[in-house]
Amino acid sequence: MGSRALPEMAAKWQKTMSWQPDAGHLLEFQSLYEQILAGNQQLNLTRIVEPKEFWEKHLWDSLRGIAPALLSDLLPKELETVEIIDIGTGAGFPGLPVAIARPDWQITLLDASGKKIDFLKSLIDNLGFENVTAITARAEEIGQQPQYRSRYDLALARAVAPASVCAEYALPLLKVGGLAVLYRGHWSDEETESLSRTAKKLGGLIDFVERFTTPLTRSLRHSLYLRKIAPTPEKFPRPVGVPGRKPL
Ligand code: SAM
Repeated sequence: MGSRALPEMAAKWQKTMSWQPDAGHLLEFQSLYEQILAGNQQLNLTRIVEPKEFWEKHLWDSLRGIAPALLSDLLPKELETVEIIDIGTGAGFPGLPVAIARPDWQITLLDASGKKIDFLKSLIDNLGFENVTAITARAEEIGQQPQYRSRYDLALARAVAPASVCAEYALPLLKVGGLAVLYRGHWSDEETESLSRTAKKLGGLIDFVERFTTPLTRSLRHSLYLRKIAPTPEKFPRPVGVPGRKPL
C-alpha cells in the first residue's frame, strides 16, 4: 500500500488555486490517503482509491471549495481562530484536507453515522491532528443546541443533500457574517434563484457562485457561497428528517 504514492501536482495546484502544498502538507496528504485505504477494508468509505483520482476528487476538490478563503479574502480579518464545521463529512471530506492545509483553523467533522465518526476519531489520533474533532449527530439536532448554534465562521457540505436542505443544515450553525460553502456538480441559474429564496428565509443570501472544471478529468463543478447576514429564525433547522422531506 505504501507504494501507492499520490502525485504532487505542484503546477496544477498553483495554476488552479494560486496555492501550493509544502513538503509537510504532502506527507500528511499521503498519510491521510493510506489511512483511508486501510479503513476501506472494514468500512465502505469511498470508491475513489486510485492515486490520481483520490488527488483530484478528494484532495483537490475539497480544497477548491475553500480556495477563496485559503487566500484569506473571504473571512473577517480580525478573527483569531476560524471555526469550521464539515456537515456530513463521510470519510472526512472536505474537512480533513482543509485541516491539513490550514492547521491554524479549528475543524469539527460531523456525521450521522457513528461508524464513520469512530473511524475518523482513530484517524485523527493516528495522524496527530490537533485542530480536528469529530462528532456523531444530525445537523438538524446540533443546529438547535446552544453550544453549536451560531458558532461557526465557515460551514462546508459536499454530497450530503440537495442545496436547499444543506442551507437549512448550515445557516443556523453559522455566526452572522459567516459563510457556507456548498459543493455541487451541475448547477443552473434557476437553481440559484430558488436557493436565494431559501437562503433569505434562513437569514442568508447567495454571496457568489463559482463555476469551474476539475484539472484532470475536466468534470464540471460549482461552489456556492452563502453568507449569513441575520440570525436564523428559531424554527430552523426543523426536526430531524423534515428538511429532507419538505425542502424549503
Ligand atoms: N462529504 C463527504 C464526501 O463528499 O465525500 C461524504 C458524502 S456522503 C455521500 C454523505 C454523508 O452525509 C453520509 O456519511 C451521511 O451519513 C451524512 N449525512 C447525511 N445527512 C446528514 C445529516 N442530516 N446530518 C449529519 N450527517 C448527514
